[in-house]
Amino acid sequence: MSLRQFCDALLSLGMQDAVNLDGGGSSRLYAAGRCVNRPTGERVIANVIAAWEEQDLSRQSIVCVDAGHGVQTAGKRSPDGSYLEHEFNLDVARRLRTHLERCGAAVVMTREDENDVSLAQRCRISNESGADVFVSVHTNAASGGWSDAQGWSAHIIARGAGAEKLAECIRARAVPMLGCVDRGVKVDNFQVLRDTDCPAVLIEHGFHTNRAEVEKLKTAQYRELCALSDARGVADYLGLAWKEPAGTASGTGVQATATRRQAVYDAQGREESGRYIDAGDRCTLGAVTAQLLIEVEYPTASGTRRAYVKSLEAFKR
Ligand SMILES: [Zn+2]
Repeated sequence: MSLRQFCDALLSLGMQDAVNLDGGGSSRLYAAGRCVNRPTGERVIANVIAAWEEQDLSRQSIVCVDAGHGVQTAGKRSPDGSYLEHEFNLDVARRLRTHLERCGAAVVMTREDENDVSLAQRCRISNESGADVFVSVHTNAASGGWSDAQGWSAHIIARGAGAEKLAECIRARAVPMLGCVDRGVKVDNFQVLRDTDCPAVLIEHGFHTNRAEVEKLKTAQYRELCALSDARGVADYLGLAWKEPAGTASGTGVQATATRRQAVYDAQGREESGRYIDAGDRCTLGAVTAQLLIEVEYPTASGTRRAYVKSLEAFKR
């Protein structure tokens, strides 16, 4: 793993400020002014630094992401067979999960592979997880082969409640971001909308029976926009602070880029005793639950060094 990939991994875990690594056993990790690891040597080298914002896990929002039909559901494909809806659904669902988790939500998936999960089971997964919202990812079809029908729509069980607000939040993001025809929010008696306890929405991201639209639906770029617009809408509804993906040069992404530069700078092997970033009260190690097991290589004046981060759990107080 390169340093850049490592920084991306840490940023995706919610780290905010900097990482500076040295594989030596006397390296010390500080947070809020306290040494929080168990160095093997007496020599103080404050050159392993991680700082991130505290998350209140007791109030973490739960999103159930449903990747629609699986491979066994017949007929969900473009008329020429070059596009399979189950593949789009899972791809966008996974992208959606990544964006939501980055913004602090816990995500429960109804399926992780291509196999179908029954409608009843999807509702059960959502309800048992205590999900705050349910989002089902689909693309639409007109009957009878290729068609001019096109555009984005959201489907809810009834108007006037949380589901409609959720759908309108996503719609407000999706239509401008995708530049698609807006078919609006519609009421439908679908089982996943009816039998889920939380506000639930089913998104049709376009028609795979429209020749122009299906070409867009096949591309990674458009799928990413679909996932981003869904995630932004869900974040708006849940009141989650939006975090741009690492390396994105817009909005708060500027901060993420700066953070990564800082991390790269600190990992160049500069020997500045006691130089570390202490974000004071913002450093809370106890709230971190993510596991990390990675190896990092980085250049120094004397060659290449390796650093090994075993697990964030090991850094807890
Ligand atoms: Zn579908």
